[in-house]
Amino acid sequence: MSERLSVLAQGLQGSQILRIGAEVRELMAAGRPVCNLTVGDFAPAQFPVPARLVKGIARQLEAGQTNYPPANGLPELRKAVVAFYKEWLGLDVPLDGVLIAAGGRPIIYGAYRALVNPGDRVVYPVPSWSNEYYTPIVGATPVEVPCGPESGFLPTGATLERALRGATLLILNSPMNPAGTLFSERQLGEICDVVLAENARRKAGERPLFVLYDQMYWMLTFGGATHVTPPGLRPEMAKYTIFVDGISKAFAATGVRVGWGVGPVDVIKAMAVLLTHVGAWAPRAEQIATAELLPDGDAIRAYHRVMLPAIEERLTLLADGIAALKREGLPVDSTVPCSTIYLSAQFALNGRRAPDGTVLATNEEIRRYLLHSAGLGAVQFQAFGAREETGWFRLSVGAVSTADIRALLPRLREALAAVR
Ligand code: PLP
Repeated sequence: MSERLSVLAQGLQGSQILRIGAEVRELMAAGRPVCNLTVGDFAPAQFPVPARLVKGIARQLEAGQTNYPPANGLPELRKAVVAFYKEWLGLDVPLDGVLIAAGGRPIIYGAYRALVNPGDRVVYPVPSWSNEYYTPIVGATPVEVPCGPESGFLPTGATLERALRGATLLILNSPMNPAGTLFSERQLGEICDVVLAENARRKAGERPLFVLYDQMYWMLTFGGATHVTPPGLRPEMAKYTIFVDGISKAFAATGVRVGWGVGPVDVIKAMAVLLTHVGAWAPRAEQIATAELLPDGDAIRAYHRVMLPAIEERLTLLADGIAALKREGLPVDSTVPCSTIYLSAQFALNGRRAPDGTVLATNEEIRRYLLHSAGLGAVQFQAFGAREETGWFRLSVGAVSTADIRALLPRLREALAAVR
């Protein structure tokens, strides 16, 4: 890398997920049958955004809503978020504790920047989404907590307890990218108790341990799964919790770019000042259209009555297909679909031989084998910071049809059976 760049820029890595996605698209462009389960996004043909959002944005642009929004977001959207959290999550949040931005990413970046000094300990589970990129940006000391299938790839109070000693920030994400799992009340409650105990131990004047609670997928639950929040379970956690949220996943609106952070007023105000200089505002027209959508519970429920079964159907097809392969004795497994657009699947081919005689040692080698032999586009947990080569992958269904999945399964069976 060029020495003309800053040390930070020289060390920065691009997203592995995007690299894998580009490889998959190349194969598809060459006419190969591929079921693209790599992208954490929605194909608008499969999952369109709510029509009233599109119409609202167009109407507001026509009406001349084309100038800068206020740095912390339009008051009508901030008020709509306060009411939305009260109605849907039972949370009371102050208006000044809401910051609007261009999606969830600037909120995450702003929180890292506003809370973490160089050298501070930032604790996050692996696999998890993008923390291995954000920690070096702020010069934090990363404290990775490996999580496996036994806890749904989510951390527990017990696994976090030691890691949190002296830490500045704990990153939690539920429902979870990449695993598609979510915290139970008990699992999150125990983590909150560990955080509260750690904060109770700190002396006056010492900076507290905060929790960045990324609930970008909280509206995407099904099969009886219920989303829980730290302040919802332990009200005292409100002092320490910064929510990451937005319309990107809940309304399949990843390209619309409206997100929000909710948290303690002093932290949210600092994040707003920081992001002013980044200019990561959500456009005015999109903020107003979102402010019109959020209070309309009936429209949201009607939208999700279509969207959620469509996601669940796809994830269930995959999980059932994998379960059938497992019954045949093939080395595969998966989690149970319950939230997000993701399923964790294990293709435990590590150490086995592909038909051409090469040994599939790493998950990257398994990924390439399954892509080229079965047309399965999947992303290994290594792209989410995991280190163990145990064959776990993220399968994302936002950009595929049920027909795509049905066509994949026999190809996958053949490719798995051919490995010795
Ligand atoms: N948080 C999680 C867990 C995500 O998976 C994503 C996007 O994939 C984001 C945050 C960022 O969302 P946005 O697209 O609104 O920036």
